[in-house]
Amino acid sequence: MSKTLLVKNAAVLVTMDGARREIPGGGLFIRDGFIEQVGLSAELPLQADEILDLTGHVVLPGMVNTHHHFYQTLTRAVPAAQDANLFNWLKTLYPIWARLLPRDIYVSTQTALAELALSGCTTASDHLYLFPNGSRLDDEIAAARDMGMRIHASRGSMSLGESQGGLPPDSVVDSEETILKDSQRLIETYHDPKPGAMVQIVLAPCSPFSVTGDLMKESAIMARQYGVQLHTHLAETQDEQAFTVQRFGQRPVAYMESVGWLGDDVWFAHAVHIDAPEIKVFAHHGCGVAHCPSSNMRLASGIAPLTAYLRAGVKVGLGVDGSASNDSSHMLAEARQAMLLSRLAAGLAGASLSTDDSPPLLTGRQALELATIGGAKVLGRSDIGALEAGKCADFISYDLNRLETAGALHDPVAALVFCQPHNTDNTVVHGKFIVKQGQLATLDLHRQIEIHNQAAARLLTGNP
Ligand SMILES: [Zn+2]
Repeated sequence: MSKTLLVKNAAVLVTMDGARREIPGGGLFIRDGFIEQVGLSAELPLQADEILDLTGHVVLPGMVNTHHHFYQTLTRAVPAAQDANLFNWLKTLYPIWARLLPRDIYVSTQTALAELALSGCTTASDHLYLFPNGSRLDDEIAAARDMGMRIHASRGSMSLGESQGGLPPDSVVDSEETILKDSQRLIETYHDPKPGAMVQIVLAPCSPFSVTGDLMKESAIMARQYGVQLHTHLAETQDEQAFTVQRFGQRPVAYMESVGWLGDDVWFAHAVHIDAPEIKVFAHHGCGVAHCPSSNMRLASGIAPLTAYLRAGVKVGLGVDGSASNDSSHMLAEARQAMLLSRLAAGLAGASLSTDDSPPLLTGRQALELATIGGAKVLGRSDIGALEAGKCADFISYDLNRLETAGALHDPVAALVFCQPHNTDNTVVHGKFIVKQGQLATLDLHRQIEIHNQAAARLLTGNP
């Protein structure tokens, strides 16, 4: 028996289709988790199993987060790591993260996904690269399934410990054999390549300074055998660049090339310290970028060349990054930060507002593109990121009758980015409500916060 959902009467429906249509009075007709029709409400079927009247709401494709570390929601605002740059921040946090238990992975995933869903995200990529005390990526996948969120779960890894010249302590790194065996198990167990997939697996050795070149190469070979994507942190800080130049005699991008990591199946988190020839390399090979403006500001890492990427045709999505360096998982806030930071960069570069023939400043709509269709492309998905017939029924809505957008109704679409309403009113993934009328529908938030705080306290003190 098929199940249908009719969405009608939106104040404006933002499609993010090829023509970037925005449809006043628009709606969707959904069957079994996929969009069957998009258009004016009057042109859609009159009947459905469920009807959602969104008079006064803006409707958009669900946002796609391209970089996160869910487990870090347990170590937000840790005092000793509040004011540190990346390498010192990591060295402070590694011993705390080494105490993670399997149930912490489950709890922190649900907390992160709750915040993401309420802030407009329907698909999240996560990068889990520590597996202490029997923790497994399975714990994260179970948590996402129980909530009904779509995830790209990255099997991260660290194999280059301190004794070998790497940054992490030896206690949190694993052997290459263990990592590759588990990667294969996860792909074979969970990876779904079909349209509408709720779970995809990604192979994601953590970074050039925590992983051996051999593991990078072997991961790329395995990923291509199975047709899964590759992901890692790259060119996040100048410290990292100094590390790769000193250890490998190459800048980060050249190092990635030497280990077989350039291709349209690869996306890099951060990519801050990238020069003009390297931008061309990304564009030529189709590499994607997860732009993480809040984290880059929080850790004083630098400003990624966002507008240069867009001009060169590099695929760019947004990432809230882990909650130890954001410290929130607010997807719409990240879109706003991307817009603001790119404008600061333009100002610092002395951009002339009148002579450049491309739009001189990143617009609110461009920021929404990055957060939706941009992220979908980075994750290699053609079935999400836009509201079009045949795509997944992943959408969000904001009631415009709210304090945050009061006085901004001349352009309610741009107002979402400029005014950044705090929570969605509806977040729907594959036709199912994750947020309904502003409330989480698949998680008891009150109870979740209590369990999460208990887990965080235990992690920090080390007391059971
Ligand atoms: Zn990260």
